[in-house]
Amino acid sequence: MWEAAGNTVREALANSMAQETSRDLGPVVLLGPPGAGKGTQSKRIMEKYLIPQVSTGDILRQNVDQGTELGHIAKAVMARGELVSDDLVCEMVRLRLKEPDCKRGYVLDGFPRTAAQAGWLDALLDDRLFDNSRPTRAWPIVIRLDVDYNQLLLRITGRRSCPTCGRIYNVRFQPASVDCVCDIDGTRLITRNDDRLEVIQPRITAYQEQTRPVADYYQRTGRLISLNGDQPMDVVTEHIFRILDDHHA
Ligand SMILES: [Zn+2]
Repeated sequence: MWEAAGNTVREALANSMAQETSRDLGPVVLLGPPGAGKGTQSKRIMEKYLIPQVSTGDILRQNVDQGTELGHIAKAVMARGELVSDDLVCEMVRLRLKEPDCKRGYVLDGFPRTAAQAGWLDALLDDRLFDNSRPTRAWPIVIRLDVDYNQLLLRITGRRSCPTCGRIYNVRFQPASVDCVCDIDGTRLITRNDDRLEVIQPRITAYQEQTRPVADYYQRTGRLISLNGDQPMDVVTEHIFRILDDHHA
């Protein structure tokens, strides 16, 4: 059977984490369009609750890089220009979630992407209720960051980044002291390709089409929590922490 490499490192990490906090959080799913702040919020959740982020993009890359059985299959699929199937993604996620660092909880990134994947995840978690290795609450906490479409476009297209130190500015919300020049090192700021209107607009549309069924799925099962993502980053974080604290009280 296939197993991920680096288990011992993860195990050691999981043990040290367990000493710091014994509270279980379970799975956390963050939904929201690109630019809504999911990346920042995931990172803050990881740091506060000491749980890993499980990203399907990372898992896929790791499997391909490490030349695992699933990685070989995925590589062949991608080489043919096809999308990696739900089955393959789910199997990679299943193996990743079995690793010791996921025992107390994890933040899912890029998963579930479809309603079918959300149903699959529930079934997996349901199975574990009968498995002694996972005795705590199992259902994912699903938080959706709702943002105003026009605000989102302004936020993303206003981004400027420093190619030297990586700092991000925003011409509308967080401008540099001197126009288009980094405060720290004086480098000329650039607009990253991903932040251009013609790149971001189709990505947001694709997100809306793909993710709506996932949100609908969790809404139907009464587990969708919506948050106003237009509020300042720190306010959103506070709300999220409160939701998570209430859930594992
Ligand atoms: Zn800089």
